[in-house]
Amino acid sequence: MKYFTISLLNSPLNPLTYCYENELSEGDLVEVTLRNRTLSGVVLEVCDAPDFKTTPVTQALFQQYSQKQMKAAKFISSYYFCSLGEALQLFTPYGVNREMENRKWKMGEPLAQGKGEERRGKRDEVKNSTLKLSSKQVEALELLQKYPVSLLFGDTGSGKTEIYMKWFEEVLAQGKRVLFLMPEISLTPQMEIRLKEHFGEAVVMWHSKVTRPTKKKLLEKIHSGEAKIIAGARSALFLPVKDLGLIVVDEEHDDSYKASSRPRYHARDMAIYMGKLYDVPVLLGSATPSLNSYVKYPHFRLKGGHFSATRHFSFEKSRDAITERVESSIVATVAKEEQAMLFIPTRANYKYLICEACGHTHECPYCSVAMSLHRKSNAIKCHYCNFSERVPQACSKCQHEMLVSERLGTAEAVYQFGERHPDMRVGQFDRDAVSTQNKLKKLLKAFNNREIDLLIGTQMLSKGHDYHDVTLAVILGLDNQLNMGDYRAREKALSLLIQIAGRSGRKKEAEVLVQSYNQAFFEPYIGQYEKFLEDEKKFRQGLYPPYTKLARIMFAHKYANKAEESMQEMLERLRLQDNIEIVGYGVSQIEKIASKYRYQILLRASKTTDLLKAIKQSKNALAEVDIDPVEFS
Ligand SMILES: [Zn+2]
Ligand SMILES: [Zn+2]
Repeated sequence: MKYFTISLLNSPLNPLTYCYENELSEGDLVEVTLRNRTLSGVVLEVCDAPDFKTTPVTQALFQQYSQKQMKAAKFISSYYFCSLGEALQLFTPYGVNREMENRKWKMGEPLAQGKGEERRGKRDEVKNSTLKLSSKQVEALELLQKYPVSLLFGDTGSGKTEIYMKWFEEVLAQGKRVLFLMPEISLTPQMEIRLKEHFGEAVVMWHSKVTRPTKKKLLEKIHSGEAKIIAGARSALFLPVKDLGLIVVDEEHDDSYKASSRPRYHARDMAIYMGKLYDVPVLLGSATPSLNSYVKYPHFRLKGGHFSATRHFSFEKSRDAITERVESSIVATVAKEEQAMLFIPTRANYKYLICEACGHTHECPYCSVAMSLHRKSNAIKCHYCNFSERVPQACSKCQHEMLVSERLGTAEAVYQFGERHPDMRVGQFDRDAVSTQNKLKKLLKAFNNREIDLLIGTQMLSKGHDYHDVTLAVILGLDNQLNMGDYRAREKALSLLIQIAGRSGRKKEAEVLVQSYNQAFFEPYIGQYEKFLEDEKKFRQGLYPPYTKLARIMFAHKYANKAEESMQEMLERLRLQDNIEIVGYGVSQIEKIASKYRYQILLRASKTTDLLKAIKQSKNALAEVDIDPVEFS
């Protein structure tokens, strides 16, 4: 009998010891039992017979995690504070053919890593390509290819995608493969069409909306090497791609690259880690790059036409209201048979229901957040735990019968335009209206076929869609973003403004109307995002990333005192640590979510190693660690 330490997939437990009669090697996927449950596990190493009774491995599953996958998983586990089994759960192992059960590969040797390593940096022009780059684009590509990690800082409409695709051609010509990450790939069917038009069947799209049977088929294509361009959301990073030649992270500034549950990894940062591990170049792209990437990596600035010349910006002092000016601008645009877009950060009809008499907000019974009004279903819903109930007729505190709604949402704007302008064709673009891939494709098609005059939507509007004929973009609620208690609030608000404005004026000149009390902040940076980044550098120097490292430690428990005690206990231990700073601690901004009370500690250090060490030495069981956090509420 032989003994092995095995990490259980998706389990927070430390590795356990099991026995097996045959040889197993590191990375082998096996089936084991734990308290009568069948679980999957990954072999870590051979060990000595322990002095306790062990259960045998039920079976070997003939799949293996490569050495590099194992290494990356170990990194995730130690850097992002999760178990190895939780980190490994992210990865898809390399398959081994059933017929070759006699195992052709040797212990510890990855099945499918690149042979014929060519050094990067050499340009192979692809003959007879239909992709023609401008001289500026060629200059960009040549510069970007010189570095292991580089940033394409290109305005919307400046031709970033052609540059990506040209590089893809070159990688494919070398017999290698491309990993192409996009933050919300399921929201951007246009990119899929574009890639498939040029590269045909070699393109595989991988994201959460892909059905299970399709995933199986796609995985076969990836295993066989038939898939050459693997485009996907952050999970694509962990696919078993053979002979990787390039990783591209598009819209690298987007926060949806950061996982919001354990393992709380950042896909852009992991892409850079993987690039180093596999010795392949990593290209980041964005019209509004994060300060992080701008500071760390060499970039090429690609200007697209004249951003501020084709778009006329005006400001209105308001927070988020359909004012007369907003309404008349939209009506005038539609009258000219042109299209308009209206951005509102909130979905539903209204974000709050407030009592007119006592000012009481109707909160979710399980979370300390206001319930949003959904007129269509005559309900109020919690956007954190999905609890919903009928719209109350009176205040739950004082029984007063007048409840007023606040903070306009997309559904309400759609409703109001429908009431006042019955001839206007209005589309709703948010998570409530666009719940499936089909609905999304239909809506985008209808908009681009000009069957919709006005598209009203949330952040989804800004996600890399190509709208051809929008000549008016109206942006509401930007100050809500700017006033958030987040060191990146300025970056996020300005980037949002530029991304949404960039969806307009693709062919004709456009108007951009922004509601904000902070014109003085926004205006000088429009069309000059680099100027903002330079100013922001000074603001963050010595205080915030990328100049320092942050960690957020969260404590959640159904009893508030338990959560608080845990926080206090960890605080005491943290105070004994060197080279870290406790920036703040206490009740979280959102005190309760899904019946759990929430406390948190914010830590800062100038060195990653100091930060990780301090946390490792003081962490307790309830502490949930979020390294490089992007969320602070
Ligand atoms: Zn709730
Ligand atoms: Zn009241």
